[in-house]
Amino acid sequence: AERHPNEQEFHDAVREFMQTVFPEVEDWETLHRDAVLDRLVEPDRIFSFRVCWEDDSGRVRVNRGYRVQFNSTLGPYKGGLRFHPSVNLGILKFLAFEQVFKNALTQLPLGGGKGGSDFNPRGKSDREVMRFCQSFMTELARHIGPDRDVPAGDIGVGEREIGYLYGQYKRLQDESRAVLTGKGVGYGGSVLRTEATGYGAVLFAETMLRRHKDGLEGKICALSGAGNVALFAAEKLTSLGARVVTLSDSDGFIHCPDGLDEEAIASIKELKFVQRGRLKEYAEATGCDYHADEAPWGVSCDLAFPCATQGELDGEAAKTLLKNGCLGVVEGANMPATLEAIDLFRRNKCYFAPGKAANAGGVAVSGLEMTQNSMRLSWDRERMEKELAAIMQTIHEQCVREGDEGDWVDYVKGANLASFKRVADAMLSLGIH
Ligand code: NDP
Repeated sequence: AERHPNEQEFHDAVREFMQTVFPEVEDWETLHRDAVLDRLVEPDRIFSFRVCWEDDSGRVRVNRGYRVQFNSTLGPYKGGLRFHPSVNLGILKFLAFEQVFKNALTQLPLGGGKGGSDFNPRGKSDREVMRFCQSFMTELARHIGPDRDVPAGDIGVGEREIGYLYGQYKRLQDESRAVLTGKGVGYGGSVLRTEATGYGAVLFAETMLRRHKDGLEGKICALSGAGNVALFAAEKLTSLGARVVTLSDSDGFIHCPDGLDEEAIASIKELKFVQRGRLKEYAEATGCDYHADEAPWGVSCDLAFPCATQGELDGEAAKTLLKNGCLGVVEGANMPATLEAIDLFRRNKCYFAPGKAANAGGVAVSGLEMTQNSMRLSWDRERMEKELAAIMQTIHEQCVREGDEGDWVDYVKGANLASFKRVADAMLSLGIH
């Protein structure tokens, strides 16, 4: 903590990880243990740069851009770019740290990184977003490459932004290379990448329930977020017979006790992705319940899927969910549950699927986008669905292998230990550097 002052999210991520890993490495030779643990929490390198762009009124605006290249033991750095006013180095370090282990769980040859900017895309015109992305990539291009570092999207960075970023990269380097994932399918993107994180989280939940002789059919699900992860999780849950009763954005949440059907989800996708509108507008147009400035965790549910952002589900929310009989929590977002909440879920033996396992479907399909780009091939939807399902299954198996406690599976312990072992073994093989 002294070496990384004022970086609460990063401290929390490391603490959550080390709590489960420490007992495992206690018997290791001291030399090996120190050589791995100390190096694991220090990023390989960090870039920070000025991003200067002109808004529609001709005013010059300045933001700060970052790329954290955390660990490349298993392969090129891989992890998303986030554009949100809350972005700072501590948040990106926590996300990059998590990414190292999430990527390890996919079994693909990927290291971990994360980047982004405190730029706020909300309320910006398309042209402003384009000019920002071009300026951001002008600097970032020096540090990335298909065998070096391959960024993707995250909060505030979807297909539109990836298109502008990729366009600028091509213009600067004069070559078409697999340097970003999440590209449009028309110019090198993979089928199913957009859906992969949300779908993957639901596939994980389904496997988790099935192992305990239960299923998704008829389950009442409370979701937060109304972005890429939440909306595709909602779509998949609905198609499997579950009842999605809430969605949220940063202004509040909608509550639809009968569940959102396919048509409702499609119209919310149109509202959020195309019109870039707010859930409040959906509530006004349809008459469904709307709760301003609140998160959905007070709604009674069987399963909770926090899919918005870090720290959105705290100890109080966890107590409410448990009191209302919630059976399981599946993290679609990265570390949405606070340490206190995670502790409560684990102590109460509530099934808790941590983000590094449950939301790894997105990066897994990104890894397969890189494979397809290298082969100059595109795989079809059927193949991609099979690949995603197989990877989520493998991640679940690894969690069970390391986290099985007899009457219950500790998925936090399972995901941390399985990924730690893969990264640590490789680090030791590559020598101390
Ligand atoms: P989007 O930008 O598509 O959507 C984010 C959603 O969360 C929006 O509805 C947004 O509301 C809401 N939100 C964002 N910040 C806050 C906040 N501070 N308080 C309340 N609501 C907030 O992002 P994604 O869906 O891509 O990402 C969501 C989460 O999933 C993040 O934690 C991300 O790191 C994680 N993730 C994403 C992956 C991906 O493939 N996209 C892969 C793995 C993890 P509003 O519209 O009002 O801003």
